[in-house]
Amino acid sequence: MSAPNIETIVSLAKRRGFVFPSSEIYGGLGSAWDYGPLGVELCNNVKQAWWRWMVYERDDMEGLDSSIILNRLVWKYSGHEDTFSDPLVDCRDCNSRLRADKLGYLPSDEELRGQLAGDAVAKAIRERRVGCPNCGAKNLTEPRPFNLMFRTHVGAAAEDDPSSLVYLRPETAQGIFINFANVLTTSRRKLPFGVAQIGKSFRNEVTPGNFIFRTREFEQMEMEYFVRPGEDEQLHQEWIDSCFNWFTSLGISASNMRLYEQPKQELAHYAKRTVDIQYRFFPEREEEDRQWDELMGIANRTDFDLRTHSKKQSSALYSRRCARSTTIPAASGSCMRDRMRSAHRSV
Ligand SMILES: [Zn+2]
Repeated sequence: MSAPNIETIVSLAKRRGFVFPSSEIYGGLGSAWDYGPLGVELCNNVKQAWWRWMVYERDDMEGLDSSIILNRLVWKYSGHEDTFSDPLVDCRDCNSRLRADKLGYLPSDEELRGQLAGDAVAKAIRERRVGCPNCGAKNLTEPRPFNLMFRTHVGAAAEDDPSSLVYLRPETAQGIFINFANVLTTSRRKLPFGVAQIGKSFRNEVTPGNFIFRTREFEQMEMEYFVRPGEDEQLHQEWIDSCFNWFTSLGISASNMRLYEQPKQELAHYAKRTVDIQYRFFPEREEEDRQWDELMGIANRTDFDLRTHSKKQSSALYSRRCARSTTIPAASGSCMRDRMRSAHRSV
């Protein structure tokens, strides 16, 4: 049985008690949702199916549950403090806050050849060629980076004390990387092996999506697979195939799934290659390309994360370990970021 469109599923989910708008009695809170009696069971089923497939049914996988609040240095050296941001612009006329990359401005081929897509958008804004989608005025500010990590403070320190600043994690993956040596030592693993984790992550999205499609607080199912240098490309491809097959084994029709190869300008700062598994969530949309959205992302992060943490004095463990074993493991992550809420959609 199939629903004619996503709205039908959304209204059914609310009516039957799968999902409620969060803080509803106080007017709600943008993009926050609570899972009701049936919703929490559905979520648990998805998580259990994933854990069974990813951890219990394999002999090269360990589980982990790391903290949400980590030492700030983790995010400094992972690159998130500097680069995990969206380009933000304001409309001087109507005060709307907008994402520069979502303004619908398409750089010409010539512009793309000459510069990064982001620079082309900034140039178009400066030359007043792009209008505000709300009021139409061509009066936007220069794009500036808006960091997506939620900030908070630990302990009784004053709020402006920089030493007390911490972030809610924007991904579960770093908890895996900083525990790499701990897991390696205590489990007596040899490469290749993986570490899987399920947990909440937080991103202060400028423009969260409809319903549970892009929320600021979400649950991730993430796994990082550590391989020897040189084996990363082949194993990355094997994980892409394996994940695709997992979805079909759950009963999802392969004709409603497709693989999307992220182009260079879309790749995250750590990624060498990323392939998304997309699902046809919106069959009612006329334009074929707009029918699809992401179900899972599988990134080859190379040894970016382990290398960057190894360089730092505070985590010299990695360096010693790597020096002794003479292999610096490449991390071919099958990163299921945002995937918990994605998985909700798939069932
Ligand atoms: Zn405006």
